[in-house]
Amino acid sequence: MRTFLLSTALLATLSAAPLPAATPAADWAIAIHGGAGVIERGSLSPEADAAIRADLAKAVDAGAAVLRRGGPSTDAVVAAVAVLEASPWFNAGVGAVFTSAGSIELDAAMMEGEARRAGAVTGVKSTLSPIALARTLMDKGPHVFLAGPATDEYARENGLVQVPNSHFMTERRRRQLDDLRLQNQGAALMPAETRMGTVGAVARDVKGNVAAGTSTGGLTGKAPGRVGDAPLIGAGTLADNRCGAISATGSGEIFIRVRVAASICDAARFGGQPLQKAADMTLAEVGSLGGDGGVIVMGPKGDGLFSFNSAGMYRGRASARSAPEIKVYADE
Ligand code: ASP
Repeated sequence: MRTFLLSTALLATLSAAPLPAATPAADWAIAIHGGAGVIERGSLSPEADAAIRADLAKAVDAGAAVLRRGGPSTDAVVAAVAVLEASPWFNAGVGAVFTSAGSIELDAAMMEGEARRAGAVTGVKSTLSPIALARTLMDKGPHVFLAGPATDEYARENGLVQVPNSHFMTERRRRQLDDLRLQNQGAALMPAETRMGTVGAVARDVKGNVAAGTSTGGLTGKAPGRVGDAPLIGAGTLADNRCGAISATGSGEIFIRVRVAASICDAARFGGQPLQKAADMTLAEVGSLGGDGGVIVMGPKGDGLFSFNSAGMYRGRASARSAPEIKVYADE
């Protein structure tokens, strides 16, 4: 065995050398969700389970493809969310839930963590991809938040594809509205399984910038004009390179009151909490007010994590260092 002695000069050089970064700059990562709520084993047919997982995987792949070739986290988020908006299995775009008036009103928001630009829309009725609309508003401005008919007008002016409101309607969601009416329940009290399916994505690109996006139909039987947490920056959606990117799903009214995304970011930034703990503590607070749901969080270094207090959350993630994974139940 040979022993090497390091000279004092060499030791000095080594100790002056910068430490390797904990996460190389080239790391990218994405996490997505397709809603949280009552998803118990056996409650989904094997076909539905497989179809949902396939669409979640497609969304992760769409976002990962952007990030892998060095694209921005904003593009990755839009690519992933747009896949889920087009799938009838989720409560966003096609397959969104009905309002009490029997129409579909969509909410979406987008934010990027470098300059902290944001775009949010509520009450969208004819724009095929609400996340693309939120993205356009974020990029072009001049405002951050548009509501009601102004959203679709803005989309038309900017050349975004328009469809009739019926394009988003599915029989499954219409039945859920009928059931709710039969039970004479208010939207706020409705069982979580009829709410399931809000979609969102958070990503970190190779430059180290994070972004978040969320898109939803809201709650079955919601009053026309009702605004949930998803399009509210700091409640259902937030991105800030100093703490990470967050997209939420769950009982919207309570998520607004807890300021879920802002609470997680602030606990990490100002309270020094690890993001997982910050998210878990915030979800516990949601629970203490009688709410349920979950969040996906992308840390500044590319750690994609989940936290939820419901029986399940449709979720997936992938990164430069780990193969895609898709999960549905809490115990997976
Ligand atoms: N948070 C959404 C809303 O209240 C619904 C959901 O995520 O299931 O509009």
